[in-house]
Amino acid sequence: MFKLLFMLLAFCLIYCGGAYAAERGVTNTSRSPHVKLRSVDIRDVVWTRGFWADLFNVCHRVMIPNMWRLLRDPKISHSYANFLIAAGLGEGEHHGPRWHDGDFYKWLESAAYAYAVTKDEKLDELMDEIIEVIGKAQRGDGYIHTPVIIKQRQARSETREFKSRLDFETYNMGHLMTTACVHHRATGKTNLLEIAGRAADYLYKFYKESPDKLANNAICPSHYMGVVEMYRTTREPKYLELAKGLIDIRGLVETGNDHNQDRLPFREQTEAVGHAVRANYLYAGVADVYAETGDKSLLDALESIWENVTLQKMYITGATGALYDGASPAGSKRHREIQLVHQAYGREYQLPNITAYNETCATIGNVMWNWRMLGITGQASFADILELALYNGVLSTISLDGKEFFYSNALRRVSDLPLELRWSRTREPYISCFCCPPNTVRAIAGASGYAYSISDEGIWVNLYGSNELDTRLADGSRISLAQETNYPWDGKIEILVKAPENKKFAIMLRIPGWAAGASLKVNGHSSTTDTQPGKYAVIDREWSARDTIQLDLPMPARLTQANPLVEEVRNQAAIIRGPLVYCLESVDLPEGIEIMEVMIPRDIRLHPRHNSDLLGGVTVLEGKAEAFQSDSWSGELYREIEPQEPQQINIKLIPYYAWDNRGECDMTVWIPVR
Ligand SMILES: [Zn+2]
Repeated sequence: MFKLLFMLLAFCLIYCGGAYAAERGVTNTSRSPHVKLRSVDIRDVVWTRGFWADLFNVCHRVMIPNMWRLLRDPKISHSYANFLIAAGLGEGEHHGPRWHDGDFYKWLESAAYAYAVTKDEKLDELMDEIIEVIGKAQRGDGYIHTPVIIKQRQARSETREFKSRLDFETYNMGHLMTTACVHHRATGKTNLLEIAGRAADYLYKFYKESPDKLANNAICPSHYMGVVEMYRTTREPKYLELAKGLIDIRGLVETGNDHNQDRLPFREQTEAVGHAVRANYLYAGVADVYAETGDKSLLDALESIWENVTLQKMYITGATGALYDGASPAGSKRHREIQLVHQAYGREYQLPNITAYNETCATIGNVMWNWRMLGITGQASFADILELALYNGVLSTISLDGKEFFYSNALRRVSDLPLELRWSRTREPYISCFCCPPNTVRAIAGASGYAYSISDEGIWVNLYGSNELDTRLADGSRISLAQETNYPWDGKIEILVKAPENKKFAIMLRIPGWAAGASLKVNGHSSTTDTQPGKYAVIDREWSARDTIQLDLPMPARLTQANPLVEEVRNQAAIIRGPLVYCLESVDLPEGIEIMEVMIPRDIRLHPRHNSDLLGGVTVLEGKAEAFQSDSWSGELYREIEPQEPQQINIKLIPYYAWDNRGECDMTVWIPVR
């Protein structure tokens, strides 16, 4: 009863103009004591035209309905059928992976994001219908996990909860909690939040009774983020106690391993190891706990791990988790300590291209982690990684039509690879392990929530894309901006202040790390504001309606090399323009030339040309390169180089996110340079 009153109070604060604005962000950091930047409400930013508006439109009109079609058709996915059976509304057994409930919640979260912006009534009705089923599937004590509930409903007495750490119960319940918070923020309703509250209460009780067992079951720990978000939504103190405890009890796991990041207590960890999805979810969840507690030992570990990832273990696309299978710690002198890992971070600088694992969920975990680090620190370097991973690592995982998906994400594909990899090397309409596709869709649906932040100083512009912002500053006063740009194709951004009138506050504009020579104008006059790349430019003045800011981020194509210790790309370059990593596909090469034969001169001049008819409209990069044709290899491992004059060829590069949309062809991000 007390809890219900508490939730009602929170509801009134949010919806009756209470003291706390911005409680409806992708993360609700409106009252987090240890953040510098706070989220804006998800419905306060609307993409208006261009890249992100088009993408959001495909998300709302195609991705979300298409995925609902997949998830509700038992012949394709048993995900919704599992809920119906668990609810007593259907017959049969549980089918599909044990984390399938979580996949379903992620899709539901994307629907809630879409509803927040579109107010699509059909989506709202559909969500209510589904939530009723989820509610009926829940056990009286709050436990909800369809594989176990279905068996218990069918009176199979031997079935117990938390029997195996690979049952993914906490993963499923964590996604339920996050989805419930987003659904509540989008709709104002509490129907899913009440279900998630019962699940959180169940976890709290389980934490009190069997902390070691709970610690052992923290696999892909989405519940760290979920429980913190439940605390932020309901202000129920025991959820914060639970969130803190969930990190502390990781040290109780007796058979911990690097694969699950629990060989060492979290605070003793300094590098990213093991399963990259589990790792990135863990880091994002710990960042959430820091935001509420200010426990410096957590932030110290996170900063050390972040440096390890971004300086030694991350792909140029923002993807992480290089290895299909490997050993950890790799090459250790203490041979007996080495453990097997899979879909994992490798050793430092181990970044293969053709066999890059790079599970989509790990990239999304990287986005979520960097978003939280940005909030904690206000440092643009985190927003830079967020943007890099979003445009390149995340968008490349879904086809342009919104209906096909990658599970693992290579940076090179060659047709004559003589080994079978675990996952398809082309996108597929359905993947038996369906964790990634709904993760991508919810990331796209909610991306507008990353575009701006608020602090006591003013408003922070994190991402660029034509949009309208209508929100409140930290003091509660209204601010309205209109952003006009062709970003990411063009670095010119214009921001029109629509409100307030005659008010002093700062507008912070992110100058990406790549944007050397950025310039700013305010009301048409050049500004002396510092526009150092990798920082936020701060314009602190009295603003009035009709004031304008013009930001120009130069976007030359940049030939980029990796640290020489990345052996797989020695003497190769990746081409980046603005936030987009480019690639070469064999369909764009002259007849008879293969991608492995192409070499680019160091001084190549690459000309951007926008082609609105290609791949949904992309800016391609065109230039002159060379090809050294080689006879096909007939199985030998080595052979002598024959003298050869290079052939001059024209090349056309496309953004990496748009690759594999023109049939199966070879592709490479890295190209040899001379
Ligand atoms: Zn996944």
